[in-house]
Amino acid sequence: YTESVHHYVNRVFEKVKKRNPNENEFHQAVKEVFDSLIPVLVKNPHYIKQGILETIVEPERVISFRVPWVDDEGNVKVNRGFRVQYNSAIGPYKGGLRFHPSVNASIIKFLGFEQIFKNSLTGQPIGGGKGGADFDPKGKSDREIMRFCQSFMTELSKYIGPDTDVPAGDIGVGAREIGYLFGQYKKMRGGYEAGVLTGKGIGYGGSLARKEATGYGTVYFVEEMLQDQNLSFKGRTVVVSGSGNVSIYAMEKAAQLGAKVVACSDSNGYIYDKKGINLETVKRIKEVEKKRISAYVTDHPEAIYTENCLGIWSVPCDIALPCATQNEIDSASAEMLVSNGVKAVGEGANMPSTLEAVEIFLENNVLFAPAKAANAGGVSVSALEMSQNSSRLSWTFEEVDSKLQAIMKNIYQNSKEAAREYGAPGNFVVGANIAGFVKVADAMIEQGVI
Ligand code: GLU
Repeated sequence: YTESVHHYVNRVFEKVKKRNPNENEFHQAVKEVFDSLIPVLVKNPHYIKQGILETIVEPERVISFRVPWVDDEGNVKVNRGFRVQYNSAIGPYKGGLRFHPSVNASIIKFLGFEQIFKNSLTGQPIGGGKGGADFDPKGKSDREIMRFCQSFMTELSKYIGPDTDVPAGDIGVGAREIGYLFGQYKKMRGGYEAGVLTGKGIGYGGSLARKEATGYGTVYFVEEMLQDQNLSFKGRTVVVSGSGNVSIYAMEKAAQLGAKVVACSDSNGYIYDKKGINLETVKRIKEVEKKRISAYVTDHPEAIYTENCLGIWSVPCDIALPCATQNEIDSASAEMLVSNGVKAVGEGANMPSTLEAVEIFLENNVLFAPAKAANAGGVSVSALEMSQNSSRLSWTFEEVDSKLQAIMKNIYQNSKEAAREYGAPGNFVVGANIAGFVKVADAMIEQGVI
């Protein structure tokens, strides 16, 4: 019977590829989830009869729109905006917006698809969605960013709302962009609907600890995984790719737990500081001066800057936290990490490891924390921000942080339990996919064919 389930899953996957040609990232994300679900389908054939795989891969709605704006020289520019409203079985669509030149339908669909399972894993009532634009914020003035955000929201505002679809940030979208987007939404609606976006500024409905949540959450998850093996971050050498929001707060929490973070990167290159990265310098460079990470060596001449961001995976470490972008660890980098003795890998970015890289980690008994589970802290605190907005309260940093810790522990336990139940103990890829899937699939079935 297992054999025929394999065939069935392959058939559905072939259909996905045919229907969505050339969308490699999307195919990759679907393949991983489908492979994990085989034991679930074997045990619960009604999911096949109910057509759940065919249904769950098809977004409820895909919106694509023109975003015209005027640059500082008076030239009209046009970008393409997207919002994928993927699945609303367990709550309003929830997921970030990414502004990056690489954004296309495949990127937004892979991110939206992953968001369904991630959001389900958090235990909070949020569906899956994602959006963005192929806009490059690099080198743009503040006013250009504002005009772009206003134009983007003029169209997006028709489709979102606090009980419908709640966007937030992702690569290229931080508090500044959320502020401009919120201002435009408010103006178009003529009412103060704080819960329509998350990641807002603290002064107008944002949540304390939202900025830190993804990075902290990744480290909380990895610490759980390590402690289960009587290990911890304490005294360990850590490499964290990226230098954005996720990376900075993963470095901060890892250091607080006693680790030494020796390298981080941006899309141009990476820095290696054998004394341990000085986080105040990184924060100043990235959050205040908005410069490239290479500027770090001016303050810390003992550090080495190498112009090749993926070279960061050749730095020997005990724990690697990829917090930059998709597919930043390929099989060669994974092999390099393994041969340098890596013990744990925790994904702070979305899908930072290729399917082959994940395979290499698992085969070599590296403790592997997949993105859907390990980076769910960001969207979890977004859901806490929604709760605060609807109750018109604001919780303290400590309150939010302790809820985040409890949520990450819970995700760890549920993923571990699902992996064990379905015959893959210790495989958190399988565990997270299954635990995330079952809740959504059951809700879909209970709500009927709609
Ligand atoms: N972009 C983040 C993610 O990948 C956060 C989404 C949100 O807060 O809605 O999960």
